[in-house]
Amino acid sequence: MHKAPSGSHKLPAETTHGDVAKILRGAGLRPTRQRVALAHLLFASGDRHVTAESLHEEALARKVPVSLATVYNTLHQFTEVGLLREVAVEGAKTYFDTNTSNHYHFFCEHSGRLLDISTGAIRIEGLPEAPEGMTVSRVDVLVRLVEKPGR
Ligand SMILES: [Zn+2]
Repeated sequence: MHKAPSGSHKLPAETTHGDVAKILRGAGLRPTRQRVALAHLLFASGDRHVTAESLHEEALARKVPVSLATVYNTLHQFTEVGLLREVAVEGAKTYFDTNTSNHYHFFCEHSGRLLDISTGAIRIEGLPEAPEGMTVSRVDVLVRLVEKPGR
C-alpha cells in the first residue's frame, strides 16, 4: 500500500469557514464569500485532486451559487499563492491538488482520477544537469493506468 504524503493545508473535518478565511488571509487573499466556500470544499476533507468542473458540480450540489468561470479563476488564484498545486495531465483537464508537497501520481485513463504515489516509491536516477544558469525546480511523474484486459 502506498501511503499518501500529507499536505500542508489539511484540516480537520470540523473546519469552520472562519478557519478557512484565516488560511486565505495568511496566503494574502481577501476571504470573499465565494473563496471561503470553495476553499472549505477543497481543504476540509483531506487531500484531494479536483478539476474546475468537478469542484463546480460539488459546489452546486452543496448549494454554493458560483459560476464555472469563478471556480476556474479561484483555483488558479489559490495555485498562484501556493495553496494548491497544478497537476498537468496531457490531453486531459487540468487537475488541482490540495497536497502541495512534492509527490507523484497515478492517472487512471478510464475514470480520469488521480491517485497519489508517495515520493519514496519512485527513485529518479540519472537526471541530467540543468543547463547553465538554470536549476531543476521539480520533477513530475505521471504513471498512467488502464484496466487489465479481460476484466
Ligand atoms: Zn496528489
